[in-house]
Amino acid sequence: MSGLREEAAGRSAPAADFLKRAARIALDLLYPPSIYCMACGNLIDASRPYSLCDACRERFGWANGDSCAKCGRPLHGGGPQTLCADCAGGGHLFEKGFACVEYADCRAVLYGFKYGGRTYYGEHIARVMHDRLLWEGRAQTEPANGRDANGRDADGRAGGPANAPAHGAPRTGERSGRAGEPGTGGLRRLGVDLLLPVPMYAKKERKRGYNQADIAGRLLARLLAVPYDGKLLERIRDTHVMSNLSAEERGANVKGAFALARDREDAVRGLRVMLADDIYTTGSTLDACAEALLAAGAASVRFIVFAATGAGADAGAGDLRGVM
Ligand SMILES: [Zn+2]
Ligand SMILES: [Zn+2]
Repeated sequence: MSGLREEAAGRSAPAADFLKRAARIALDLLYPPSIYCMACGNLIDASRPYSLCDACRERFGWANGDSCAKCGRPLHGGGPQTLCADCAGGGHLFEKGFACVEYADCRAVLYGFKYGGRTYYGEHIARVMHDRLLWEGRAQTEPANGRDANGRDADGRAGGPANAPAHGAPRTGERSGRAGEPGTGGLRRLGVDLLLPVPMYAKKERKRGYNQADIAGRLLARLLAVPYDGKLLERIRDTHVMSNLSAEERGANVKGAFALARDREDAVRGLRVMLADDIYTTGSTLDACAEALLAAGAASVRFIVFAATGAGADAGAGDLRGVM
């Protein structure tokens, strides 16, 4: 992790870099990684999966049971081909997305990761994302493996990384392919040739010291053994804070905000790209990324996010105020 943290802070001026590192060390002393539950702060045994206490892992709404077949957000009820109201209306440019956890359950995790300097959460978040994708690959290749095609087990319970055997520990042999090649087993069916993070505007990233999507995405790519490029897609203009904007305003806000790095416009031609981000709300950011990638010849654009707002009418932006 320390190497990643240094990479993430690599663009900072030396003095600012030193201060950020010192602040991070102080934070690590106050909140040693993996000793406290990321979600509720309770003391946990460091062996608990995903650095979550058992109670939080149980109460989390894992989004791999009933979820929108297009954007992946958790649904409450519905079959495998169900779309959320937003996706039923059409219009998204990405092909498909996967989410891990209902946002309302993991606000504290995202807040700490995004704004609290707790970059070490990235390791656990990447592991959750990895297990989510493995689970999806298994669900697609082995629908009879104790779960139906919608990921429910024999009791009708939705599956989640935490509900998977051994708390989602990946099974040997499925974990990865050789570095630089698409993953093996079910992962190949998920269609990932290249993983990219949703980029931050460079100035904003320098100010924060890191891009949380890059930290999680880079670690996820290592776990999946898929190629990764944290610098290929760029956010070429700053965008307003989106928490109080309507879906239409969000779309207009990020439209045209992303582009491939100069002289690398051909780098995604023919590739199935997967984007990694921390949260899915209206999908406008991911659509804007997809627009740039598809224009550059990407074969398809999918995404994996740690959290997604639920499909309920009041589970949207209001819940995000103060966080986004
Ligand atoms: Zn907890
Ligand atoms: Zn949807």
